[in-house]
Amino acid sequence: GCGTDGGDTEASRDLFAMDTYMTVTAYGKGATEAVDQAADEISRLDQLLSTGNEDSEIYKINQSGDGILSEETAYLVERSLDLYEATDGAFDIAIYPVMKAWGFTDDNFRVPGADELKDLLTLTDASDISYDKETSQIAFKKDGMQIDFGGIAKGYTSARIMDIFRACGIKSGLVNLGGNVQALGTKKDGSSWRVAVQDPQDTDQYLRVLSIQDKAVITSGGYERYFEQDGRTYHHIIDPKTGYPVENGLISVSIVTADGTLADGLSTSVFIMGKEAATEYWRNHSDEFDMILMTDDREIYVTEGIADSFESEMDTKIIEKKV
Ligand code: ADP
Ligand code: MG
Repeated sequence: GCGTDGGDTEASRDLFAMDTYMTVTAYGKGATEAVDQAADEISRLDQLLSTGNEDSEIYKINQSGDGILSEETAYLVERSLDLYEATDGAFDIAIYPVMKAWGFTDDNFRVPGADELKDLLTLTDASDISYDKETSQIAFKKDGMQIDFGGIAKGYTSARIMDIFRACGIKSGLVNLGGNVQALGTKKDGSSWRVAVQDPQDTDQYLRVLSIQDKAVITSGGYERYFEQDGRTYHHIIDPKTGYPVENGLISVSIVTADGTLADGLSTSVFIMGKEAATEYWRNHSDEFDMILMTDDREIYVTEGIADSFESEMDTKIIEKKV
């Protein structure tokens, strides 16, 4: 366990990192120490995973186009490349040059020209990353390729905080990274955590609550980061097939699973897939995760595995395993 504080304590800290407000909470003996360690871990990962930080490993690899990865970066590259395969290229860490062209990396927002995007798309295919699991050697096959963990970093961070909590002997804790939640165990009284599921279009504040234990609930939506130009909105989740922000009728996707890293990677991927492809994907992977989809015509879909744990004042449709 961690620390020597009394048996029945609660500790909570608010912080700002990875461009978002975060809250870390732990209950029980060692809670204060666990929350302190979690805060340190968040700063460490913020530095490690930031593409803009010139001291970070990822920055150096993006400059040189190759290198030997540390164990942790290797883990994230492996998870990312696995997701690239599993999602038929929807999850693509090599999308970074296109993110830069849109200005999402430095807030110099602009709409790139069609020819510019076409050229950049030759650099954004993760299958052009050569990676050797044995040696952790990475090499980009084309000059100008760069990678970014933006679609997976927060989920990995919340997963790491769960590891810290467990190592500290904490049995009950919660982390909220800008609306992305991961819970350890149950609430102190043994009941499930009740997580509010965001709805970007909801002005009436309808209730949408998911009850969870030992799970991450990670949401992706175009509303998280966007700019407007000439009356149009452009957001930060890019379809690797086109180079444009994905527009497929989904406004938000929440993924529910015990693995925070997977939840984050899939939230981005499922948002890109759209409702039909996402439904098919879930039917083939229903033992790995559950999901909540919201469409721009105000429909909510939840997969069978969490249907009984989801409360909503709005009409909810259930996605079943068997059609
Ligand atoms: P948020 O970071 O707002 O919680 P996401 O998890 O969906 O939302 O991640 C969006 C981020 O993922 C973008 O800011 C960008 O860094 C990265 N990204 C954008 N498109 C893709 C993609 N097709 N594959 C992988 N990562 C992406
Ligand atoms: Mg994500």
